[in-house]
Amino acid sequence: MNNADIAVICSASIDLQWEEKETITLDTPYGPTSDAITLGKVRGKKVAYMPRHGYKHIYAPHTVPYKANIRAFKSLGVKRIFSIQTVGSLQPDIKPGEFVVIDQFVDRTSGRSCTFFDGPDVAHLSAAYPFCPETRELAVKCAKELGITVHEKGTCVIIEGPRFSTCAESQWFTNMGWHVVNMTLYPECILAREQEMCYSSVALVTDYDSGIVAQGNVKPVTHAEVGRVAAENVEKSAKLLLSMIERIPDEQHCGCDHAMDGARF
Ligand SMILES: [Zn+2]
Repeated sequence: MNNADIAVICSASIDLQWEEKETITLDTPYGPTSDAITLGKVRGKKVAYMPRHGYKHIYAPHTVPYKANIRAFKSLGVKRIFSIQTVGSLQPDIKPGEFVVIDQFVDRTSGRSCTFFDGPDVAHLSAAYPFCPETRELAVKCAKELGITVHEKGTCVIIEGPRFSTCAESQWFTNMGWHVVNMTLYPECILAREQEMCYSSVALVTDYDSGIVAQGNVKPVTHAEVGRVAAENVEKSAKLLLSMIERIPDEQHCGCDHAMDGARF
């Protein structure tokens, strides 16, 4: 097997209960991927999997080879990417242990290589609605059926990192009404869209960000609680991914495979 229909990319290692699998390495015009790709069958579907920081977690958020990872999935024939992101909450009603199916983002990164169209082939992707509506809807439905507390929408602000936000930065994000914060959603989501693959992101809330903690609106989460919540989130996200993989229809009805139509002037 040298192809896949679905790719899963996560921050932590996730057990996908493989029915069969092999490990491959791929080089791309953008260099090597974060790590070897596991390729095989999950619930009867052809799946590719890779942790975005590498199995040994050697890539910081700003050094993840996003372009190589996305191009590698594309070269395997992947049509849909299920992304799992670890996030901090910016709002009191989005609690540690809960999931958010992201529908918008605000990019606060800087200097990342964020497009396949640096020239001479130039294009301007429409990013008004950056995530696949079909796989988003499926994520919400599957999460609810599994009894996971899920927020159906949310805006994720992506910071450059690797440092966390100051209280002032974080309070600004909260006051803007944005919901969660992380360091890796961008440019991964946009690169996938430029390659005309469906991309949905389920954000796993680990803790509250520094701003609302400083405001005294929520109780700070202890290190022990963060560890417990993170472990539970990995377990729940594996169940969610398995359910999504099982139920995703073969045909796409979302238009993501035509995302670049009209992008070239
Ligand atoms: Zn789609």
